[in-house]
Amino acid sequence: MHFHKKSLKIIAITFIVLLLSGSIVDLLARPGGGSSFRGGSRSYSSSRSSSSGGSYSSGGSLPVSGENVGFAFAVILIFVVVNGVKVYLKQSQEHSIISTPPKNTQNTLRSSKGDMLKKMKKSDENFSNILFIEFTTALYHKFHTFKGKPAFTTIAPFFSERLKNKQKNGSLSIGNVSEIVIGNIEIVSIELNRNIYDYLTVNIQANYTTTKNGNSQRRVTDEKWLLKRKKGVKSAAPELMRTLTCPSCGATANFSDSGHCAHCQTFIQGGEHQWMVESTTEKIETFSSHGLGHYEQETGTDYPTIVHDNLRNNIHNYLVDNNIPAWNDYFDQLKNVIVKPIFLKIYSAWSENKWNEARHLISDRLYDSYKFWITNYKQENLVNKLNDIEIGRIDLAHIDTDKYYETITVRIFASCYDYVENSRTGKLIGGSKRHKRVFSEYWSFVRRKGVQKDESKFDLNKCPNCGAPADKMGQAAECEYCGTKISFGDFSWVLAMIVQDEVYTV
Ligand SMILES: [Zn+2]
Ligand SMILES: [Zn+2]
Repeated sequence: MHFHKKSLKIIAITFIVLLLSGSIVDLLARPGGGSSFRGGSRSYSSSRSSSSGGSYSSGGSLPVSGENVGFAFAVILIFVVVNGVKVYLKQSQEHSIISTPPKNTQNTLRSSKGDMLKKMKKSDENFSNILFIEFTTALYHKFHTFKGKPAFTTIAPFFSERLKNKQKNGSLSIGNVSEIVIGNIEIVSIELNRNIYDYLTVNIQANYTTTKNGNSQRRVTDEKWLLKRKKGVKSAAPELMRTLTCPSCGATANFSDSGHCAHCQTFIQGGEHQWMVESTTEKIETFSSHGLGHYEQETGTDYPTIVHDNLRNNIHNYLVDNNIPAWNDYFDQLKNVIVKPIFLKIYSAWSENKWNEARHLISDRLYDSYKFWITNYKQENLVNKLNDIEIGRIDLAHIDTDKYYETITVRIFASCYDYVENSRTGKLIGGSKRHKRVFSEYWSFVRRKGVQKDESKFDLNKCPNCGAPADKMGQAAECEYCGTKISFGDFSWVLAMIVQDEVYTV
């Protein structure tokens, strides 16, 4: 979304700048720097300078080969860190950061990602990218909350001996960790042909607060996790992938020192039935919200829409799965009833600082990461206005279906007056009130497979489960009227991802 380009990008750049030049002022003072200092995708970036081939991108999902760090880097930041990097790049050639993968690299990434996922689903027909990410997200939260504390034992079977030893010797201890926000998390490589295990590498950009001896610090972290699972194992059902559970009895993870489940007493050998973390690497920076509100030139709006190779086939399967007679009529309806209203609602919720009004329309992770930015804007007395939005063309980019979920990715073209001003004084900080900004973004909507709801009845002001007003969703998107969690997409579409043109890959 547009907003994240500015808001989010900003911080990314901040880190990069802090990291590479040691000073933000330094950047702003450079020729051409003035208004271009703008945040990048989410907060979380850090030192990614790689030699010549290193590129930065972000994007929807899986990229490339396993061990190739250069390539892995290519797929890191989702949304937009890239832009932030770009700004910096222009001004500081001595650091060889490449902002966007060159066109031919993008194509390679594209087919490789598709192939990898296909192979994964072939070997485990229950595999769902969405559920795997939810599992890793749950693991990530627990890991950082419990590391260095006795409670780590309760989740220990999900970690390798090496990590358990680090826990034992105290080297994981960094004080109390709280307010964890994941900005981006995605699989970047899959290896199915190694030993007796399958391996997945996941990149995670996040930030969290550490408190030690009364001192609190906000940290930005960029981590790479290698997870493994025994070959031939099939993924567990959605309920068992969304939280950490005992692979034997399904109870909430609670293991003893010896690795036995407190509920069923079974000894759990890591990686035998569920993914476990083999190793982690991380780069950590200190967070700063300095520089929020600065803009950079929009990039990639004129690129052709990237369409998945199997789109035609996937459309056919989608129509069959959902008993839909004709794609064109359906897609028109989808655009008018789902995509446009949700797009407008999310933009207005952001622009008016009423983010909770969009709660039931957005996945948990996306909601949390944007909320983090809204909070930072507010703290700096800034507001990002997005006025007079007009939606232009909407292209279909991708349909992906696994055993549990359907994902439809569209590219939305739009324009609006997009600027950041001081909420007290009204002073313009960045953007323009006079010229509309034209942009496009890839939005991915997710829904539980088999829902088969009549799209024409969709009403974004109602709970898609019970039909009550969507005014009491709380922070967890649980409808107070029916007690059901909406943000998994179990009842209707929710927005799961937004990716900028210049970093989108299939
Ligand atoms: Zn158990
Ligand atoms: Zn409800």
